[in-house]
Amino acid sequence: MKFVVDSFGCRSNQAEVQEWIIDLEKLGYELTPSPARAAFGILNTCSVTEKAEKDVLRFIGKAYRNTRIRWFIAGCTVSQDRTILSHKYKNYFFFDNQEKKRLVQAVCENFPIDSRLIFHSSFRSRFFLKIQDGCNFRCAYCIVPSLRGKAQSLPKKDILAKVRHVAALGYREVVLTGINLSSYGYDLFPRETLLGIIEEIQHVRSIEIIRLSSLDPRFIKYSFVKELSGFSKVADSFHFSFQSGSDAVIRRMKRGGKSAEYLRILAHFRKFFPEANLGADFIVGFPGESEREFQETVRFIQSSSLNYLHVFPFSPRRGTKAAALDPLPMEMVRARALELKDLGIQMKLAYRDRCRGKVFTGILIEENPNYALVVTRNFLSVRIPPVRGYKKRKLLVRIERVVNENLCEGKIA
Ligand code: SF4
Repeated sequence: MKFVVDSFGCRSNQAEVQEWIIDLEKLGYELTPSPARAAFGILNTCSVTEKAEKDVLRFIGKAYRNTRIRWFIAGCTVSQDRTILSHKYKNYFFFDNQEKKRLVQAVCENFPIDSRLIFHSSFRSRFFLKIQDGCNFRCAYCIVPSLRGKAQSLPKKDILAKVRHVAALGYREVVLTGINLSSYGYDLFPRETLLGIIEEIQHVRSIEIIRLSSLDPRFIKYSFVKELSGFSKVADSFHFSFQSGSDAVIRRMKRGGKSAEYLRILAHFRKFFPEANLGADFIVGFPGESEREFQETVRFIQSSSLNYLHVFPFSPRRGTKAAALDPLPMEMVRARALELKDLGIQMKLAYRDRCRGKVFTGILIEENPNYALVVTRNFLSVRIPPVRGYKKRKLLVRIERVVNENLCEGKIA
């Protein structure tokens, strides 16, 4: 029996979806890209911004009108708007963040199959592994702690069992994700750390690359970066949740830390990972952000060694402190977001240009008759001529041409 999946939002959501896929494939269900051939669908949702929530609701409305399949819908939008959703879409199944552990079981109950019919899984390369959920902080703009609860880490033995399992399935890269990944292990007894779990995963032989999703600057010390650089499998790409380069705005966001500390963190990473692709999240148009404060963020970025940006125009989320503050005019927020997005594109192009002629390790993520796609350790997507025999193996690619800010061309070195 075939099913489709879709996911909105963060890498933790993608990680959850991947786990559901693996569990369902083990039971004999088959993933298909085509809704027309599917019996049911699985959707993980996001409410982190107003836009994300609108996109989710549009997706559900369209699916309801245009497809006959029934959807199992989980995640933050359900936690936020469950009553409205279950009233409006009566034959769909909804799971808030507390209930989503039951999703696979609910599929089995409603779409039973003969579990002896096990299909072979599709092309494997990168696995998003969620090792942490929830958050103990209360940033002024963020609804996530209300929807996902306190920080909870997966015990080390469970993570290692999963990593070994996905390695046996053919995955060569694991992306460690979490709502606040940097806080991994603080809630466990005995206490664990992110570095500790990376060290263990290093020993899983067929895993070639360990990539980290967003890091919280509040947890990053010089010693952390130094120790991280001792792990040969850690990918040369790091992402930070900075959100602003203006100290006054960072303070009003209730995030703690200062822009000078953020620059120091970047300098530590540059010292130990000189070729790394460094990126960060920025929220623009936070209530009260003056033109001067916005320009402080622009200058912060220009003076930093960042190579790409994820830019989010501020949108108030019900139930957060920032929702009670006077918002800036929407056109101003949009204009600032565009300015930073343009800057981010220039930074990506400049970084890719500097990579031309260099050789990087990568993993093949897509193969087709005309080309193959490799994602390198420093997170460049590189199109190379078709290759045979590299599936499930790491390979070396030389970057030859920058096609655009998201794609390079190259060949096997
Ligand atoms: S650290 Fe702040 S932004 Fe990140 S999940 Fe926690 S409250 Fe939200």
